[in-house]
Amino acid sequence: MPKKLIIIGGGSAGCFAAVTAAENGADVTLIEKNPSVGKKILATGNGRCNYCHDKVTYADLFRPEGDEFLSKVMKSFSPEDVLDRFRSLGITPVSKDGYIYPYSEQARAVSDVLKRALAKSGVKLYTDTEVTDIVKKENVFNVICEGREFEADSVIITTGGKAAPNTGSDGRGLDICRKLGHSVTAPVPALTYLTIDGHPFKKAAGTRLSATVSIEVSGKILSSDTGQIQITKNGISGIPAFNICRFASRGLLNGEQVKLHIRLVPDMDDNALTAEITERICGTGCTPYDALIGLFPDTFADSLLKNAGVAPDRIPDNEKKTALKLSEYLRDITLTVDGTGDFTQAQVTSGGVALNEVDPVAMESKIVPGLFLAGEILDIDGKCGGYNLYFAWASGFIAGKNGGA
Ligand SMILES: Cc1cc2nc3c(=O)[nH]c(=O)nc-3n(C[C@H](O)[C@H](O)[C@H](O)COP(=O)(O)OP(=O)(O)OC[C@H]3O[C@@H](n4cnc5c(N)ncnc54)[C@H](O)[C@@H]3O)c2cc1C
Repeated sequence: MPKKLIIIGGGSAGCFAAVTAAENGADVTLIEKNPSVGKKILATGNGRCNYCHDKVTYADLFRPEGDEFLSKVMKSFSPEDVLDRFRSLGITPVSKDGYIYPYSEQARAVSDVLKRALAKSGVKLYTDTEVTDIVKKENVFNVICEGREFEADSVIITTGGKAAPNTGSDGRGLDICRKLGHSVTAPVPALTYLTIDGHPFKKAAGTRLSATVSIEVSGKILSSDTGQIQITKNGISGIPAFNICRFASRGLLNGEQVKLHIRLVPDMDDNALTAEITERICGTGCTPYDALIGLFPDTFADSLLKNAGVAPDRIPDNEKKTALKLSEYLRDITLTVDGTGDFTQAQVTSGGVALNEVDPVAMESKIVPGLFLAGEILDIDGKCGGYNLYFAWASGFIAGKNGGA
């Protein structure tokens, strides 16, 4: 008799797990609360689906413990395995600076091939069906939905976290895991913007700048990232801000003081930056404002000078002092973070089911034998660049292979 496996949640991890298990001979039922599977996939990569990264390192995915968990996942299903699997389903990859997209650059292609694979492999699909509880009696799982119940030998939970709840992931799966005895690290929004107390650059909203941003929580720098940031009405956005946001969210949840350090002109070292500003200001006859034009957008130069405490007009006797003051300011603009985007704005959840309660070789729960977990429901979250989907596919594959065996 083939093993009866129920998978809860038809996102990336759930679809991958379902196809893998069914192709390996299991009797697979996939339950999804939305009218169809893969809703979040359509929104990924701005509709283009950055479905993997050509290199995944330990630094690209944040998790509370050491490297062992991720190392085992990567050994079982590497980024190259993801690309091969998708090639076999009809997706030709294209790399943009390491970010992998389908050649057509359409997220729909990824969800379509998964839907085709689900149908072809014989997965029984129940959509518009929300799981409200799971009860294990002896060796049988009862999966409870409104108005119906399913029985299974094993269950895979792939209900995601709490990010983008309009795509279905509202945290109910985490409640079910808690009830089953799992510890859950409080979920917080990640990959979203930061809001700044007394935001000094409000007037420059819309400005894009190259910068290195670092997040300090209770006096300790926890993470830095470099790239293009965007000034918004309430704070800072852009990929570098997204990548450090998880630390701000967690710090704020814990009531800690969270600071943002912005270093502008990140491609110049301290000496080069001081020399550049000094050359622009001293002896050129330029006002400090004029001296900044060409280095920063004019929309930003004004508020930059104001916040650096530098008069925009030329004061010949003070030029050297002004240049030093300004270059020092550009090296470290320190702001107080008072919030982040909420779950409706976040691309990912930081937090989730504790990794030390899951065996990475099989993705099986160490608390409830026969229960498997994969994807964003677990306490692991990646940077922008295809790392979160990589983890969803890889963990989904491992859970499907073992949950159906
Ligand atoms: C706007 C946006 C853009 C993104 N872009 C990228 C990107 O380009 N690259 C990248 O790597 N990552 C990206 N991500 C993150 C990535 O999409 C997720 O990390 C990944 O999809 C998580 O997959 P998952 O299967 O674990 O969870 P989800 O995709 O959230 O799927 C969970 C599924 O479970 C269903 N479900 C939940 N509860 C129940 C229940 N009780 N009963 C039945 N069904 C239930 C939900 O409806 C949903 O379909 C993006 C996320 C967002 C929001």
